[in-house]
Amino acid sequence: MHLVMIGGSDAGISAALRARELDSSAEVTVVVADAYPNFSICGIPYYVSGEVTHWRNLAHRTVADLEATGMALRLDTIARRIEVAGRKLLVTRPDGQDELISYDKLVVGTGAVPVRPPITGLAGPGALGPDDGVHMLHTMSDTFAVMRTIEDTAAASAVIVGAGYVGLEMADALITRGLRVTQVERLPEVLATVDAELGALVHAELAARGAEVLTGTTARQISRAPAGGAARLRVAAQTASGDALERMADLVLVVAGVRPDTELAAAAGARVGAGGAIQVDRGMQTGLPDVLAAGDCVITHHRLLGETYLPLGTTAHKQGRVAGANALGACAQFAGSLGTQVVKIFDQAAARTGLRHDEANAAGFDPVTVQAEADDHKAYYPGSHRITMRLTGDRRTGRLLGMQLFGHKDAEIAKRIDIAATAIFHDMIVQAMSDLDLSYTPPLGTPWEAVQLGAQAWDRATGQPAPDA
Ligand SMILES: Cc1cc2nc3c(=O)[nH]c(=O)nc-3n(C[C@H](O)[C@H](O)[C@H](O)COP(=O)(O)OP(=O)(O)OC[C@H]3O[C@@H](n4cnc5c(N)ncnc54)[C@H](O)[C@@H]3O)c2cc1C
Repeated sequence: MHLVMIGGSDAGISAALRARELDSSAEVTVVVADAYPNFSICGIPYYVSGEVTHWRNLAHRTVADLEATGMALRLDTIARRIEVAGRKLLVTRPDGQDELISYDKLVVGTGAVPVRPPITGLAGPGALGPDDGVHMLHTMSDTFAVMRTIEDTAAASAVIVGAGYVGLEMADALITRGLRVTQVERLPEVLATVDAELGALVHAELAARGAEVLTGTTARQISRAPAGGAARLRVAAQTASGDALERMADLVLVVAGVRPDTELAAAAGARVGAGGAIQVDRGMQTGLPDVLAAGDCVITHHRLLGETYLPLGTTAHKQGRVAGANALGACAQFAGSLGTQVVKIFDQAAARTGLRHDEANAAGFDPVTVQAEADDHKAYYPGSHRITMRLTGDRRTGRLLGMQLFGHKDAEIAKRIDIAATAIFHDMIVQAMSDLDLSYTPPLGTPWEAVQLGAQAWDRATGQPAPDA
């Protein structure tokens, strides 16, 4: 049995590891376009900031670790064509020669590529690129290019186009490195994955740390700055009211989201679905004989929304694991995503799981959203922090639909959102959150855990009987 995985990131490697774990006699080959298998691209901002001191430390596992599991790595090898009928994969080797690799089962984990927004100077003839200080960010090579700009040109200023979670992490990283940062975001508020009320708190944290945050502002053009000026690049933008503005910078980072990389699978006949991603069932089968797919290149089964596209590392790991098992003939199923995510912005963190109010509305629920505050631990014990939360439940059924949290990074925001994620995963009603037996000691918590207080605020707002105080 020869399994071939295309892609050396979360999905491809998870599939390969799982297959080798389940059957140590399975021959597993992983084809990777670059020389950096199993690197944590989620950690890139912390290498750029200097908190992770060497890029090699971003490897989840070294090449030797991976090979020790029994998988064969084909690095710097690009998959070109899938020959479905003959079960062959055409690749171009590092020496430039083409080769046909036979497989019994193939797992496509080609991931995603950065979205290139329609900004003049970013594409087409004469476009500016990494050598000019204009960057996208997805791979280790992208990271090295960013570091070259920062170090070789002693960059003092940056414009970041996009204020999603990667843009925010990079603002944190670049400011930590000492650069002046302007963040340009087309939408009315930063971090659109949470409601604007919490986005405004993130915005305030960025501003307090010295970032210039221009929301409702669309970058239109990137060009070289006039010679002799203080900076190398010029970014022209337009506000929502139509006013033009410009900023000079040594580095421009465009982080405007990703799109699934489906070229290879689509050319082989795979169907595409939500978000233009490869259509797969919960077993990660593409419908093409002997071809599975996982990670950022495929649609996401969402437990509340059905099929959507929600690329995340957590999901890619799980889907890869399912694909690896099923490539061996198992019947594993991806249980579905809730879009649970968390981001650190300097000393604060913002997290979400499930649906925001508008998303719940659009999905046909009858949502009620309340905002509440609570302490992360008893306020009399030193170092307590307030947590702001927004909880969305369905008025008709009382079902918990979503939660968003914002608070100090030491306030266990990530683990608290995981309480809500677990509750939503198991279809709990909001009121039942108060019944959960959660831990308490004054330095670490409160008798009613913060998210339970949020649930009780929702109960009050919707007229549900409160549990005994
Ligand atoms: C800066 C940053 C921070 C992030 N932070 C988080 C986070 O905190 N939490 C979270 O959950 N997610 C985070 N993510 C998202 C997460 O990294 C992705 O969801 C995850 O890496 C997807 O894994 P993947 O294997 O599907 O695809 P990718 O990581 O896109 O990898 C695709 C792989 O396929 C290879 N490949 C592509 N085409 C070919 C080909 N033709 N031939 C051979 N190989 C090919 C590539 O070289 C690569 O190895 C972050 C992403 C970035 C960029």
